[in-house]
Amino acid sequence: MDTSYILNEFAEERELYFNAIAPPIIQTSNFAFSTVDEMRNAFADEYSTYLYSRGLNPTVDMLRKKLAALDGAEDCLVFNSGAAAIFAAVLANVKSGGHIVSVYRPYTWAQRMFDVILPRFNVTTTYIDGRDISNFREAVRPHTSVIYLESPNSWDYKLQDLEAVAVLAKQHHIITICDNSYCTPLYQKPITLGIDLVLQSATKYISGHSDTVAGVLSGGSEMITRIFHSEYMNIGSGISPFSAWLLLRGLRTLPARLDRITVTTMKVIKYLQKHPRVEKVIFPLNENFEQLKLAKKQMTGACGLLTFVMKAQAVEEIEKFCNSLRHILIAVSWGGYESLIIPKCSGITRSNFRAENIEHRMLRLYVGLEDTEYLIEDLEQAFQNC
Ligand SMILES: *Cc1c(COP(=O)(O)O)cnc(C)c1O
Repeated sequence: MDTSYILNEFAEERELYFNAIAPPIIQTSNFAFSTVDEMRNAFADEYSTYLYSRGLNPTVDMLRKKLAALDGAEDCLVFNSGAAAIFAAVLANVKSGGHIVSVYRPYTWAQRMFDVILPRFNVTTTYIDGRDISNFREAVRPHTSVIYLESPNSWDYKLQDLEAVAVLAKQHHIITICDNSYCTPLYQKPITLGIDLVLQSATKYISGHSDTVAGVLSGGSEMITRIFHSEYMNIGSGISPFSAWLLLRGLRTLPARLDRITVTTMKVIKYLQKHPRVEKVIFPLNENFEQLKLAKKQMTGACGLLTFVMKAQAVEEIEKFCNSLRHILIAVSWGGYESLIIPKCSGITRSNFRAENIEHRMLRLYVGLEDTEYLIEDLEQAFQNC
C-alpha cells in the first residue's frame, strides 16, 4: 500500500458520513442494538462489534487501520499514552517468575516497570548493551519470555540489529518488543524485520502538534486480539475518539513534516559541528556515528532529535546557554512543530555535575518546523551569551 494512500484515503468511508472530507468524531461511550440477540453476539466477541468505547470505537478504528498499515502489521491498538502501550505489551508476555532481557536504559517508564512493578511478581530483568548480538545470546535464560528493544534510543541513539535479534528470539520462542518512537514507521519498520510487537509514542511525530498524548502497539492479529481482550480492556487506557481524531489529522502531514525537519536538522548539525563550543554531535545518520552502517541498513531516515556535547567547565555555562535561548523552548517531549532542548544536567543536582563526565554536558535538541536560519541565530546568540 502506498503511504499516500494510507494517509489520505485508506479506512475512510465517506459515504457513511455525508461525503465529508474530514471524518467525524464518534464521541460516544456506548452503542445500541436492535435486538437482544445482537447484544448477545457482541458480548460473545467484543473485538468484532461496537459495544462500548473502552473497547472499539469507529473513529479509533480508522486510526488503527492506518497505523497498522504504516507499520506493515496485521493489526494494532492505540492507547492514551506510549507508556500504556509499553505496559500492555510487556504485561501480556510475562508471567510470575519470568525473565526479560532489555537494552540498557530503555525509556524511563519502561525501566520503571522492569525495576519497580514487575519485581513484585518475581519477574526479573537483565539489562544488556544491545549493540552486540552476543550479549543477547548470553543473557537469554530458559524462562526468558520477552526481549525489549529501543532502536535508536532517544538520547545517544544506540541501535540494535533488529533482524539478528528477531532470528535469535525466534529460536528461543521469545517475544520481541521494539520501541520505534524515534524513527516512526516512515523511517523504520521493525515488523518487516521480524520483530513481534512494535510500539511508538504517538505523542511525538504522529500527533506532531504537541497537543495529544497517545501510543501505538502493532503486531500479528493473534497477539493483538489477545492483548485487546485482556490488557487493553482491563487497563482501560484506550485512546479517546477526540484524541484519535487529532492523530488522524496529524497523519495527513507526517511525511511533509519529517521531510522538512530532516533538511533543517542536517543544516543545524553542520552548524553545531563547526562551533567551537561544541565537542561532539551524536546523530544516527551522521558520518561519525559509531553504528552508521547498521543505521543505514535498517533505517531509511532520521530527523529532528540530536544530542550535542557542550564544552563547559561549569554547569552554569550550560544553564546560561539554555536560559538564553529565545525561541527554542526548555521542555520535555519532541516531535511537535516547535524546537525544544533538554540539558542532561537538568536531571542532576548542581553539586553532582562533573565536567569530566561527557554525559553531564549533553544537550538533547529537537529541531521543529521553524526556518533553519531562525534556529541557528537563536543557538548562536545563546552560545555568545555563555
Ligand atoms: C515519549 C516516549 C515514550 C512514552 O510515550 P508517552 O506518549 O509519553 O507515554 C516512549 N518511548 C520513547 C522513546 C519516548 O520518547
